[in-house]
Amino acid sequence: MSETGNFIRGLRWHIGDLDSATSKITNFLNDKKTNHIITANMEILSMAFKSKELKELCANADMHIPDGIGAVKLLKKLGFSKTKRIPGIELCLEALKKMPEGTKIYLFGAREGIARKALENLSLQFLHLVFVGSHEGFGYEDSKLVKEINNSGAQVLLVALGVPKQELWIAKNKGKLNDVRVAIGVGGSFDVWAGDVNRAPRFFQKTNLEWAWRIFSQPARLPKFLMTIAGFLPVYLRAK
Ligand code: UDP
Repeated sequence: MSETGNFIRGLRWHIGDLDSATSKITNFLNDKKTNHIITANMEILSMAFKSKELKELCANADMHIPDGIGAVKLLKKLGFSKTKRIPGIELCLEALKKMPEGTKIYLFGAREGIARKALENLSLQFLHLVFVGSHEGFGYEDSKLVKEINNSGAQVLLVALGVPKQELWIAKNKGKLNDVRVAIGVGGSFDVWAGDVNRAPRFFQKTNLEWAWRIFSQPARLPKFLMTIAGFLPVYLRAK
């Protein structure tokens, strides 16, 4: 056992399949508080060891989903042999599919027009849900936005600001969100749902090479990716 291993083990991991993960998430709708779900990848896990704020935030989140092959390998190394990778984007879509009729959803994040377009597309796909509003992820004011989300009656908040902005925003504001029961950071998902960016072809998804596709299709991501690997490797090696 190591301190790194103990911290990772102590998080509220969902070890299981997509179906059981989405059942837990729909159950959160009956809670009295805002549940923060982290789709944990190499980036957030390595950042947590460099920032006290992020470490605390991770420890206080209500559910951690192994999103990404790095998180899966780390958990398996720590003895969670049944860990399955659940990509955040799939988790969200499956959870939305399962939510009860009339559940209210709010989308916050991404560039101008993207959240609105994603909202339009999702509302055509999930006719049983009510998409109550959206806001872009640049030039917002927290207090105004919280008010808007509260006025909308949103129960589910999808936040697409990238890692770790989205996690920090949820942690900072979750105590002020009146009806929100589920808040998830969804990274670049709005760009995909809006039709602005393509998800990796099936082959890359199935072979856990989605990261390679993202770098291939957006080479500007390479330096960030290399930094992430460099930050994650020591965490992986230290974890016992
Ligand atoms: N984004 C945003 N506000 C910001 C930074 C990023 O709304 O201040 C959005 C960005 O437009 C994209 C999403 O966050 O839709 C994810 O960004 P990125 O791809 O950089 O994050 P990653 O998927 O690498 O976590």
